[in-house]
Amino acid sequence: MNNIFDAIVVGAGFVGASVAYHLCTAGVKTALFDRGLCAAAASGANFGNIQIMGMELEKSVEMVTLAAKKFDTLEQELDYSVGLRRIGGLLLIQDEERWHSLEKRLRVIRSAGIQAEMLQADRLREIEPLIAPAGLLGGFYHAREGQVDPFRFIWGHLQRARQRGLKEFYNEEVIGFKVKGEQVEGIQTAKGITYAETVVLCTGARTRLLAKMLGRDWGLSHILGQAMVTEPVPPVLHNYIASASFFKRTGENAEKGKVVTNFSFSQSPYGHLLLGEAMYEADHFRKDVPYASLPEVCESAARYFPSFRKLRVLRSWSTPVAHTADNCPLLGPVAGLCGLILATAFQSTVIIAPLIGEAVMQLVTSGKCGFNIAGFSPERGQAREH
Ligand SMILES: Cc1cc2nc3c(=O)[nH]c(=O)nc-3n(C[C@H](O)[C@H](O)[C@H](O)COP(=O)(O)OP(=O)(O)OC[C@H]3O[C@@H](n4cnc5c(N)ncnc54)[C@H](O)[C@@H]3O)c2cc1C
Repeated sequence: MNNIFDAIVVGAGFVGASVAYHLCTAGVKTALFDRGLCAAAASGANFGNIQIMGMELEKSVEMVTLAAKKFDTLEQELDYSVGLRRIGGLLLIQDEERWHSLEKRLRVIRSAGIQAEMLQADRLREIEPLIAPAGLLGGFYHAREGQVDPFRFIWGHLQRARQRGLKEFYNEEVIGFKVKGEQVEGIQTAKGITYAETVVLCTGARTRLLAKMLGRDWGLSHILGQAMVTEPVPPVLHNYIASASFFKRTGENAEKGKVVTNFSFSQSPYGHLLLGEAMYEADHFRKDVPYASLPEVCESAARYFPSFRKLRVLRSWSTPVAHTADNCPLLGPVAGLCGLILATAFQSTVIIAPLIGEAVMQLVTSGKCGFNIAGFSPERGQAREH
């Protein structure tokens, strides 16, 4: 039967591509569904940075540090270039309060073996020569972050998964589930029902809509993140740059409907400058960008990198990104819905994606995961709601 699989993965972004690859590599007969094409949502609209410094610190340190190591062998394992470049990450610090909170962060991430450091403003030009440090106290720096080409990352995983039997169903939206008692038996699209022992939701921001179909509420919200891209220029940035306020402390979330303008800049391998990011918590999935926010992002870029002032912006976009109140993902099985696994709402998805594919594969094949995911249980959101 061509509508019966061992596992169905819904969502062909960073997470779904990695999950599909690991399942197929383990010999699991897998189908991948997406309502669009691969990289149709946030994974086709992001900068590809492998961010370690901004990780959530209460529950995610083990997972993120394990994940970071996977990039050392990823291209070799896939036998495919994902465009990996070992650039640094530099968070610019504008005020004393943020300096002190980052000192605390530094202690935690150093104890996990990550060699980040705090730099006074007069040292910023050593690592980012074109920066104008006026108004900055300094930076939080990690020399070995990195960047991938998001499309190559996803294509590479899908290509290898396809060679190992993956069946792909694009432009097929999941509009319902086949549930018998407490067992999820499959998914429904406009073309009918497809059955599997396990359904894995890697559906990013839209997971909250799928939750409703199952009568659940996993406490998900979503942020519309906005960015733009300039014409290509010769290499001008050595690092991924962001304002230190970009990575929020738990509970410090964007106010619904209110645009928060942080900045994050990086240069793609093709020379384009990626300039972000304004964001707001939205209850819709429209992709219109509020006009006022982009000039503010440009203003930050020009303030700290005056030579960017003359660059031409080619286009801008916005995309919904899944978010939870505690900045922790929804990862693992769902109580009362056997056969359903969630893998979504990672704070920095790129760094975590290779590990999550492996973790979900372990859950599917053995019912266990190689690292502690108790704190990421989808049920914690539901408990909070009630
Ligand atoms: C401007 C910007 C820059 C960013 N830069 C970075 C960065 O440098 N590094 C980083 O780590 N993160 C970055 N992010 C965040 C990152 O893009 C997301 O966290 C990440 O892409 C989420 O990946 P995902 O696979 O979980 O979800 P998505 O990429 O959103 O994939 C979900 C998929 O599920 C599909 N889907 C949803 N519902 C259904 C359905 N009902 N039926 C079938 N298919 C469905 C969607 O079509 C989509 O393809 C950035 C975000 C923005 C906005």
